[in-house]
Amino acid sequence: METVHLKINNIPVEVPKEYTILQAAKEANIEIPTLCYLKDVNCIGACRICVVEAKNRRGLLAACAYPVEEGLEVFTNTPAVRKSRKTTLELLLSTHHKKCLSCIRNQNCELQKLAIEYGVDEDAFETEEPVFPIDDLSPYIVRDDNKCINCMRCVAACKNVQGISVIGAMNRGFSVHVGSAFDKSLNDTPCVGCGQCVVSCPVGALYEKPQEEKVWDAIANPKKKVLFFTAPSIKATLGEAFGMPIGTNVEGKMVAAIKRLGENVKAFNMDFTADLTIIEEANELVERIKNGGTLPMFTSCCPGWVKFVEHYYPEMIPHLSTCKSPQAMFGAVLKSYYCIRNNIDPKNVFVVSVIPCTAKKFEATRPQLRSYPEFDDVDVALTTRELARMIKRAGLDFANLPDEDFDAPFNKATGGGVIFGATGGVLEAALRTAARILDGNFQKVDFEEVRGPEVVREATYEVAGVTVKVAVTSGLGNARKLVEKIKNGEADYHMVEIMACPGGCINGGGQPTRSDSVSNFVDYKALRSKALYDQDKTSEFRVCDDSPVIKMIYDEYFKEPGKEKSHHYLHTSYVARDKHYK
Ligand code: SF4
Ligand code: SF4
Ligand code: SF4
Repeated sequence: METVHLKINNIPVEVPKEYTILQAAKEANIEIPTLCYLKDVNCIGACRICVVEAKNRRGLLAACAYPVEEGLEVFTNTPAVRKSRKTTLELLLSTHHKKCLSCIRNQNCELQKLAIEYGVDEDAFETEEPVFPIDDLSPYIVRDDNKCINCMRCVAACKNVQGISVIGAMNRGFSVHVGSAFDKSLNDTPCVGCGQCVVSCPVGALYEKPQEEKVWDAIANPKKKVLFFTAPSIKATLGEAFGMPIGTNVEGKMVAAIKRLGENVKAFNMDFTADLTIIEEANELVERIKNGGTLPMFTSCCPGWVKFVEHYYPEMIPHLSTCKSPQAMFGAVLKSYYCIRNNIDPKNVFVVSVIPCTAKKFEATRPQLRSYPEFDDVDVALTTRELARMIKRAGLDFANLPDEDFDAPFNKATGGGVIFGATGGVLEAALRTAARILDGNFQKVDFEEVRGPEVVREATYEVAGVTVKVAVTSGLGNARKLVEKIKNGEADYHMVEIMACPGGCINGGGQPTRSDSVSNFVDYKALRSKALYDQDKTSEFRVCDDSPVIKMIYDEYFKEPGKEKSHHYLHTSYVARDKHYK
């Protein structure tokens, strides 16, 4: 590795020659503030918050984009640097609707943090504040351009990472704002709902459609049984909302907190329906392999990916597994099996899923997923952030709660269900079960080839005389490239796992937001994933079909995978959507 030597505030550092000043400063334990810069997403050097001075260089340099050089001497804390940053912040605040007290990002906002650090006068510049309409028409995301600082991080996330490009800069001057073509609502575009724009936003301009009040209302209604279930990744991220280190597994405290939200509340484990998805999906894969069905089979548990196929590759819909996602399966199980078993009218059951993304809020409203025509199977889908807000409002001291177990009968799951939350996890869990179906004596449980950070992981396995070829990717920009290769006959597989969010659900659009100092320098995706793989390693059962709850539900209710009842409740259909409209 070729390196260069430079000084940051007179501290000598040696760094790879590809580094920027921002990265080099970090090596000297000096933090340079950022706003428009976001690692792997946006590097346009536009907001000018990261400016620094350098010897023998004229003017101020944008540290996020300026490359290091041998002998460069950089100064990050001069009067000119501080004045420039403060003036930039005051200009941003001059048109910003400063309603911090009621803002969803209060105390967790990059702009607010810098405004405090730089002692800004929020009224330094008198201007006419533009007023933009709030777009809250979609069932999953709210855009409030009055809080937007035009950093373009959301635009870059949508375009550069996801390859979707349904948002961009509109108009000029004081009228400039981010929106969709012809100022349409996001709801009227081929947005896939992933929420990567939301987690990229440094302020409160983008957030999930809040649904906590509906849940509080249900909890206050004595006629309702409020049934929560939490997606596999939530246990690995929720703790961050309470100041715990990234990658802390808080499953026991999460369960204890949910149970304390109300007397009529139960907390179930969605890892169980991750197991259930695998049973159905692995059987579907084997069926397709044996009977010449459409291959490769694409996983269908990520609603962002499913909506992407429906909008952009409708001709590939037959490749999608017909299995519902774990969220949708749990909704169906609770409104059917659970109600029958407990003699409850499904109208009196209020189902709340806790999920890592905004796409699942959209999924919960899909008419194809209803078990009964009159109501949705999942009544409300809450992001991790919304659950954290509910726990805070309930006054619970999260860090000091005792660990508790999920409620029966959906309290046990396998390691295969746990790893659903990380990229590669669904495919690995499916391989564990599919290999067993093909070869009853198959022993391998760890399919490490499909784990890890590589953009595309491919692997081949010999099982009972079949050469099973698989691939994994995440992030829709990467997905598009892989689908094109498959369409063009340049790659052929039996099964392909795709998750819309880079890194999978642990990096979903509903997960706790991070400060820039974390997003830009810490491999938070690896830390969150590790929490899941560690739990898998120590799980009592690791292959989905070994779960006692799976055995119970097939014995008592579904009988066999892919047969009449399981097909009715656990499988679904898709719709070809227009590329330009919803
Ligand atoms: S939710 Fe995803 S597709 Fe929709 S605007 Fe945001 S990043 Fe783009
Ligand atoms: S909505 Fe957020 S991420 Fe997008 S441009 Fe505005 S401030 Fe930046
Ligand atoms: S990868 Fe996970 S978090 Fe992201 S859209 Fe898909 S299901 Fe949601």
